[in-house]
Amino acid sequence: MLRWIDVIKYAKYSNPEPHLRVEKTEREWQQQLTPKQYQILRLKGTESPYRNAYCKSYEPGVYVCAGCGTPLFNSTEKYHAISGWPSFTQPISKGAIKYLFDDSHRMQRIEVQCNACDGHLGHVFQDGPEPSGLRYCINSESMLRLENTTEAIGDKA
Ligand SMILES: [Zn+2]
Repeated sequence: MLRWIDVIKYAKYSNPEPHLRVEKTEREWQQQLTPKQYQILRLKGTESPYRNAYCKSYEPGVYVCAGCGTPLFNSTEKYHAISGWPSFTQPISKGAIKYLFDDSHRMQRIEVQCNACDGHLGHVFQDGPEPSGLRYCINSESMLRLENTTEAIGDKA
């Protein structure tokens, strides 16, 4: 299980090995993604709180990166946070997520990205539920929920 100390170590020293790498040009991303997805994933935008697809959704499934199909979070780790964005307390695997210090907007935060395609997902905070104490605060637009993992793996082909 990842805790805040692991998150800090990853951001400070080196991130976990990705399971795979997906690299595309900005032009290719623009062609593939919807304008909203592009705004979040590639330009590090933030969608509106509450009025987003997965904020209040608790259907079972696996949340995959909307850019490259890499599995990011399991619905079993999703919990209700009052932030207005889908929140998870653990990633689906250590290698799924990349952590970077983000000093923008006069805040000190840790940005989380898809470790395969470097798509911006959101931020991670240390006010999540025990035992990990982590809150991954993620933009709905950066993910797609799939009913099963076989679909997620098929997406990458
Ligand atoms: Zn990705």
